[in-house]
Amino acid sequence: MKDRYLDFVNSPFGTSLARALGLPKPEVLRRHRPGEAEFGAMAAIGAGPSPQMFDQLIRVLTAIGMTGIAHDSAPGWLALAQAEGAMSGRFEPSPADAAATHRVDALIFDATGITESSALRPMYAFFHDAIRSLARSGRIIVLGRAPSSCASPRAATAQRALEGMTRSLGKEARNGVTSNLLYVTGDADIEGALRFFLSPRSAYVSGQVVHIDGPAAAPASYATPLAGTRAVVTGAARGIGASIATVLATQGAIVTGIDIEAARDALDQTMLAIEDTSPSGGAHAALIADIAAPDAPADIAAALLASGGVDIVVHNAGITRDKTIARMTGDMWDSVLEINLLAQERIDDALLAQNVLRAGGRIVAVSSISGIAGNRGQTNYATSKAGVIGRVQSMAPLLRERGITINAVAPGFIETHMTARMPFATREAGRRLNSMGQGGLPVDVAETVAWLASPSCANITGNVVRVCGQSLVGA
Ligand code: NAD
Repeated sequence: MKDRYLDFVNSPFGTSLARALGLPKPEVLRRHRPGEAEFGAMAAIGAGPSPQMFDQLIRVLTAIGMTGIAHDSAPGWLALAQAEGAMSGRFEPSPADAAATHRVDALIFDATGITESSALRPMYAFFHDAIRSLARSGRIIVLGRAPSSCASPRAATAQRALEGMTRSLGKEARNGVTSNLLYVTGDADIEGALRFFLSPRSAYVSGQVVHIDGPAAAPASYATPLAGTRAVVTGAARGIGASIATVLATQGAIVTGIDIEAARDALDQTMLAIEDTSPSGGAHAALIADIAAPDAPADIAAALLASGGVDIVVHNAGITRDKTIARMTGDMWDSVLEINLLAQERIDDALLAQNVLRAGGRIVAVSSISGIAGNRGQTNYATSKAGVIGRVQSMAPLLRERGITINAVAPGFIETHMTARMPFATREAGRRLNSMGQGGLPVDVAETVAWLASPSCANITGNVVRVCGQSLVGA
């Protein structure tokens, strides 16, 4: 559904009217467009004492063509950049009214060496100096250590404090800026996460904390990181599922899309459209199945096995049957739990038992911020979506030895059929009550799913990444 307010306040007339009346003006987010530069030109780098990620940062920034310029809080950066032959310079704050050309595209703060809260001061100094220099749709990334991995309570306290800073920066920055925190264990590979969070692919992902632990393989090509893989997406006929199928295929995967009989035509259309744009040239397939039917897990496993198995499983199909608990019928409860949660469990059991999901595979499940915050009239839906989070967290350690990762994305308000059916006031509240002041698009969820499905996310598992523009619901 179109967001007419966003379009209006960004039109020439709407811009002046919004300014005159003091109306909020949500930013038109910069999203990935084929042929357009993926990354900006400059990142300002700040750091606490003894930063441990500079080597990797230099390597990644150089690889993606960004120049890292050193803030006073990061004295080691210039010397290292020189030694590495990387482009660098010294950060000078730009005045509030500076032209866009003076701005930096990202602010990156390495807090990995901070072991007590008094050492958080350089983080204040960096963002105090640099926040006004950040371009529209700019990126803030803080690198830290998971509090649970810290050697002392003081270190864990200081590292936990980073969450408050990162999330508040996301709420203050506006103008389509995102702010995210990466907790890195040891010298885990951060290239995949940095590329995602620095790119327009993460346009609607803000206020998130991602845990990265262990090595990860770089794909042969970052343009088509899923080349040579096979993927299955449930609920692929329309909305978020259709977008996930499309983005996975664009990134090189051969996709089987699943949907119910009633959506047969839409599913065929989605899969045909994918065929036209897909670089794999592979035989994408449409499979009609009600995922909650008793024989669905066996049927799906057999169909996927016939083409040699699968590397990526995306559990996207989901329904709502909203009513407050006293008015909710047993059927409303059962159907939501069956489709949104139990079907995922049964399908994964079937795929894992027969190794249909190959070693090194990826499972990505679609949860919801309702599953994090709860929602009036959605006891069934929120229960099912919270269960999805429980599944991801509890299965991750069990799947580790097969090299399989399992993560969830939790969309906030996304413009689809599901949200178009909401009453006007609820819809407007869902759209506006987030740091971006607008709803997300299916492609925002799809890009996040594709990132979690990529080879460079081998070291990210058991995580829940909200795609909600930093929604105040469940914040
Ligand atoms: P949608 O209703 O537009 O699409 C859902 C698709 O799943 C449809 O094609 C439908 O036919 C299919 N489906 C439903 N039941 C099925 C079954 N039993 N077997 C196979 N396919 C089935 O919904 P959407 O907005 O694209 O949502 C996709 C997922 O994202 C859902 O899990 C939803 O809960 C979640 N989500 C959406 C939002 C949002 O704002 N739209 C927010 C949070 C979470």
